[in-house]
Amino acid sequence: MNGSIEDPDVSSTGGSHADVGGSGPEGGGYRVGTSVTRVAQPPGALFEAARSGDRLALARLLTLVERSGGAGREVAALAYSVGSEPATVGITGAPGAGKSTLTDRLVALARSSTEASVGVLAVDPSSPFSGGAILGDRVRMQGHALDDGVFIRSMATRGQLGGLAVAVPEAVRVLGAAGFGMVFVETVGVGQVEVEVASATDTTVVVVNPGWGDAVQASKAGLLEVADVFVVNKADRPGARETRRDLEQMLDLGPGGAWRPPVVETSASNGEGLQELFGEIERHREFLGSEGRLETRRRLRAERELMKVLGARVEERVTKILGSPEHAGLLAELAAGRIDPYGAAQQLLEEALIRGPGGEDDRSR
Ligand code: GDP
Repeated sequence: MNGSIEDPDVSSTGGSHADVGGSGPEGGGYRVGTSVTRVAQPPGALFEAARSGDRLALARLLTLVERSGGAGREVAALAYSVGSEPATVGITGAPGAGKSTLTDRLVALARSSTEASVGVLAVDPSSPFSGGAILGDRVRMQGHALDDGVFIRSMATRGQLGGLAVAVPEAVRVLGAAGFGMVFVETVGVGQVEVEVASATDTTVVVVNPGWGDAVQASKAGLLEVADVFVVNKADRPGARETRRDLEQMLDLGPGGAWRPPVVETSASNGEGLQELFGEIERHREFLGSEGRLETRRRLRAERELMKVLGARVEERVTKILGSPEHAGLLAELAAGRIDPYGAAQQLLEEALIRGPGGEDDRSR
């Protein structure tokens, strides 16, 4: 079985398949340009298949999670009910810092040191493509292509309510339910969404490179606060020690706490420092395992996820209400100053929360 599974429902960058999925309640559909007409499987059946090792079913489930809609919610609920969250490691840093190369090495170390199957979610908020279709990921992760215990998947924004900040944790849970013990969440860059997604993991690894100001950039991007482990990758280049020193100095100025993020120098391309990095990730995991820290972290995460879903739901409802003919005048009233934004918001909130748009059942949508 190939380590990188593409969901045939999802269009590839090659453009040879048109994605017309989502036409059925299961997110299924027909592929155009091929003779394959697939009968869509309900989420429950896909879920059972994925739990018994069917990787194509797993890929399909992740596609459903990525899309908004009832089937995705059903998958999320099924995964939640299993309740097996894998150990998660987020990897973030500027494009080109070496995240993919590092992840590739870390996956190999994880596979050789534990029995657990390992998942990789490569998250790209800026890409319209997903489903393993980001060519670079497939090329880079080829080393694991023959390892059945590795599953690699790209995730992009595909209309999921609440965006990737909701879709990625759900995908992690689906992987957990499918028996994956460890999941790496790698982002393409350090945008707001990427940092949010990568830091919504048990252990967040921030990757910087040697060079004047890289540590300062990391600090500006808000990475100092989210890092559990710092990596100065490309340590084979000049300036690694200085960058490390800058980071240490910034950490000295920080609030401190029970865990001081270690700074590890690596050369991902030749594997140097990788064992140490993996060791620090494990050490952080052990730290979380004491005094109920992991539970606290996960509870906070669940709360943030809930607020995201809730916020997105309210926004969706309010947008619908605003667009309805009977409310056409509200914006005009607002613009004319006959009603203030607080009054308008109150009115909309009440309508959205009390009866919902059309009064339909949420779960059926
Ligand atoms: P990403 O965009 O952060 O995922 O970075 P990549 O893993 O794709 O790496 C970007 C480039 O840096 C590639 O050409 C890698 O081969 C190279 N690279 C990665 N790690 C190292 C390293 O430790 N030293 C050097 N010199 N190059 C590296």
